[in-house]
Amino acid sequence: MSSDVRFTDFKSDKQPTWCPGCGDFGTMNGMMKALAETGNHPDETFLVAGIGCSGKIGTYMHSYALHGVHGRALPVGTGVKLANPDLEVMVAGGDGDGYSIGVGHFIHAVRRNVDMTYVVMDNRIYGLTKGQASPTSQEGFETATSPDGTSVPPVNPKALALSAGGTFIAQSFSSDSQRHTELVKQAIEHDGFGFVNVYSPCVTFNDVDTYDYFRDSIVDLEDTDHDPGSFDQAKDRVLDSDKEYIGILYQDEDSTPYVEREGIGSNKAEIPDGAPDGATDLVRE
Ligand code: SF4
Ligand code: MG
Repeated sequence: MSSDVRFTDFKSDKQPTWCPGCGDFGTMNGMMKALAETGNHPDETFLVAGIGCSGKIGTYMHSYALHGVHGRALPVGTGVKLANPDLEVMVAGGDGDGYSIGVGHFIHAVRRNVDMTYVVMDNRIYGLTKGQASPTSQEGFETATSPDGTSVPPVNPKALALSAGGTFIAQSFSSDSQRHTELVKQAIEHDGFGFVNVYSPCVTFNDVDTYDYFRDSIVDLEDTDHDPGSFDQAKDRVLDSDKEYIGILYQDEDSTPYVEREGIGSNKAEIPDGAPDGATDLVRE
């Protein structure tokens, strides 16, 4: 991998159509910086995106990319990484994409612990479809389709990840560029599935979970006595609905990625007789 890559090398020549001020700009910039600062190269990086405002990211970043089906980016990313482990695989999506239709894939991706990074731009709303309550919207959140407020509690993605055997679970804030970049870098460097949920405000449709709200509410775990290696402490943090923590909630330093587990690496596909020339190139060494 090349070490002289700048983060702008991960920028495509396409102009983002996100609304001015959208949190997704900061989320993407941090992802590009994290990829460059961990020595990755656009030619060795594969970005899989879901559907929604967040899903446009594959067009705005310069790398190999695939704009997947709604909620199905993670299985595609898993397949890419297993077929070609030398690629740096990053999957990006939103709360609607990843925690509604995609939540089943999320849990299984977490428990497989394939060595890739999953960044979720969590704005607690469906932005692209003009402002409906999403799985992470707070209870009572009023939208055009929930005029009396949502009547169900939000999905807790960090608790889901922890209970599914997650080995790296972090929360960042798109507006805190340095901290966000640092957390995505740590997720990339983690040996296994690096999950970063990002508070990434939707300035057009969400007037509750705003930049000001997060700035006033966020507690950085680095300023506490939190030990990311402690499952019990992580459990307390992810279930604490009174606080908006950022930082690494949990990391298993002894994480064993999927392909290194006993028996997995030896399950190579066999090339059948009569297969076309070059078929062996598709099989992982
Ligand atoms: Fe961002 Fe919201 Fe605009 Fe979508 S609708 S681009 S999430 S501000
Ligand atoms: Mg959303």
